[in-house]
Amino acid sequence: MLDVNHIRKDFPILSRTIYGKPLVYLDNAATSQKPKSVIQSLVDYYESYNSNIHRGVHTLSMEATDRHEEARSKCTRFIGAKEEKSLIMVRNTTEAINLVAQTWGKYNISEGDEILTTHMEHHSNLVPWQKLAKQNGASLKFIELNEDGMLDLSNINKLITERTKLLALTHMSNVLGTINPVKELIEIAHKMGAKVLIDGAQSVPHMKVDVTDMGCDFFAFSGHKMLAPTGIGVLYVKPEILEHMEPFLFGGDMVSQVWDDTATWNDLPWKFEAGTPNIADAIALGVAVDYLRDLGMENIHLHEKELTSYALKAFSELEEDLTLLGPRDVERRGGIMSFHTNKVHPHDLGTFLDHDGIAVRTGHHCAMPLMRSLELPATVRASFYLYNTENEIDKLIASLKSALYYFSNGSH
Ligand code: PLP
Repeated sequence: MLDVNHIRKDFPILSRTIYGKPLVYLDNAATSQKPKSVIQSLVDYYESYNSNIHRGVHTLSMEATDRHEEARSKCTRFIGAKEEKSLIMVRNTTEAINLVAQTWGKYNISEGDEILTTHMEHHSNLVPWQKLAKQNGASLKFIELNEDGMLDLSNINKLITERTKLLALTHMSNVLGTINPVKELIEIAHKMGAKVLIDGAQSVPHMKVDVTDMGCDFFAFSGHKMLAPTGIGVLYVKPEILEHMEPFLFGGDMVSQVWDDTATWNDLPWKFEAGTPNIADAIALGVAVDYLRDLGMENIHLHEKELTSYALKAFSELEEDLTLLGPRDVERRGGIMSFHTNKVHPHDLGTFLDHDGIAVRTGHHCAMPLMRSLELPATVRASFYLYNTENEIDKLIASLKSALYYFSNGSH
């Protein structure tokens, strides 16, 4: 089990106060806080070995290159990939998915083909496919949701056909918390000859992920949701697919030989990493992975399951006033609690909570098609991570109760 009191000491920001109250940070699905070791790794890089990588023969450049590639190895092991060359360092999940759409997608999805996705995707795993479909004359199809906020798979064999070239699916919903049965869906898609991209932005930070066991063809995630800085993320591509993919961006570092009118490409994965990469933040991502591995992903997942059970119970007390979205079974969901009430607009509720020191997210959570299908303009979302406590959930519930009272009766 996690020693959360001990862990919290590693996160300087958690000792902040907001309006004189201790910060209760429940906006982890948007971005996580960073431990001292990650912050220090950025200082170390800039103070001791800041240098450009790959091209240098001097000590600083070799040190930076080693640490950058070491970060790639750590991420490779962390997600159960077999080869380091199958991991491309990108800015974030969004860039990773665009890379797949505009390289593999551009050449493998054509007129009449179908891209299957779901109605719980973040815009990052929808808009790149809309663009590609328009570009190449393909069409988009959707797996709908049932009332519990889980995928309705009753007609999956009709939705995935020989025309389906890609299934693009989130591992865990950033609004509903739903954890999708990705392995099962990958097997079905593969039987029909389709490739599968998994958006792991919300899963990798919170549970053990093994891309080899899962069998996905593409897997994307962002560092900033898993204790690392912003501006660094990872795309995993199955090596046999990556070997045949065209580059995404063109320029320095991604080439082998350049002539006046043509060029040849660098080895994998650098063929996909044009220009000076985000060296410092990649190294810091490696340090974040060390931190998560030291705690153990199973322990983190278990801790969040306990928080989720606790929160589900606490929210059930407010059932009359607040509607909670997503599955009720902790085996099928993560620690993301989205809710709404007809008594207060989500933004007002979010502002009220902020005055109690509680940080939550309000809005459409970059999932407008989902919001539209739920007929909601917005929700409030509280999302947990390894440093959150039951006591913080108590504070959230107490503040929600007083907000509901305030907005119904006009006093605090
Ligand atoms: N996919 C999911 C499920 C997300 O929750 C997010 C961010 O909230 C993204 C993709 C996009 O991540 P990023 O903004 O880091 O590219």
